[in-house]
Amino acid sequence: MEILDDVPVELDIDTLLARLRIDRESKIARDILDLIDNVAPVIRPKAIYEVSFIQNRDYDTVEIGGVTFKSRVLRVNLDKVERVFPYIATCGREVDEIATPSGDLLRQFWMDSIKEMALDAIRKYLVNHLKERYALEELSKMSPGEGSQDLWPIEEQRQLFSIFADVEDLIGVTLTDSLLMIPIKSVSGIYFSTEIRFESCQLCPREVCQRRMAPYDKNLLESFYKDRAGNS
Ligand code: SF4
Repeated sequence: MEILDDVPVELDIDTLLARLRIDRESKIARDILDLIDNVAPVIRPKAIYEVSFIQNRDYDTVEIGGVTFKSRVLRVNLDKVERVFPYIATCGREVDEIATPSGDLLRQFWMDSIKEMALDAIRKYLVNHLKERYALEELSKMSPGEGSQDLWPIEEQRQLFSIFADVEDLIGVTLTDSLLMIPIKSVSGIYFSTEIRFESCQLCPREVCQRRMAPYDKNLLESFYKDRAGNS
C-alpha cells in the first residue's frame, strides 16, 4: 500500500476564474485572489493505492486482493489484466475543514471549486505516478456508483475501502453509512491498464451532464452482456 501526501498543488487563478465564469478585472476576482492566498498554504490533497492482483473471475464477479466485487462491466474490463490499482484520493481534510460562514453561499461555492482543483491535482498526480512507476501506457478506471447503478453498485464502496483497512487514519477519508465519502471532494475506484481508454460515461445514458468525458455508446453497453445472451 502506498500513500501520496506530498503533492504540489498550484491553484491557477485563471483556471479558477474561468470555471467560475468571473472576469479577471472584476472586484470579485480580487476577493477570490485573497481567498486563494489564505487557503493555498493549508491545501494537502492525498491518495492511497494498492497494487492488487486478480484471483478469481466469474460471469459478473471478480476477486481482487481477497475481496470479491460484483459488476459485469468491471469483470469484462479486467479480462486481460492481472494487476490492478484500487485507490482513494481526496482534496484533504485540511482544506475541507476551513470554516465558511453558513449564509455565505458565494464563498462556499468558491471553496468547493478550490477543493475540486485540489482533487483534480491529486488525481492527475496519481495517474502519472502509476504510469511512471509501473511503466504503463494507458490507464482506465471504474468507480462504484459511477454512471448508472447497474454498472458497479455504489454499495461496493465498502469492499473497496476494506482493501485499505483504516482509510480515515491513513488519509483522513471516512465512508458514511449512506456511502458518502467525507471530505465530499474525494473519489475512489480501481485503475487498470488498457490499450483503449474506457470511460464509464460511454455506458451512461444521462442526457445532461457537464462532466461527460465520452459520448454514450449503447452498442458498447450491450457488448458487455453478450456472453449471457449467448451471442459471443
Ligand atoms: S455522463 Fe456524467 S453522470 Fe454519467 S458517468 Fe459520465 S460524468 Fe458520471
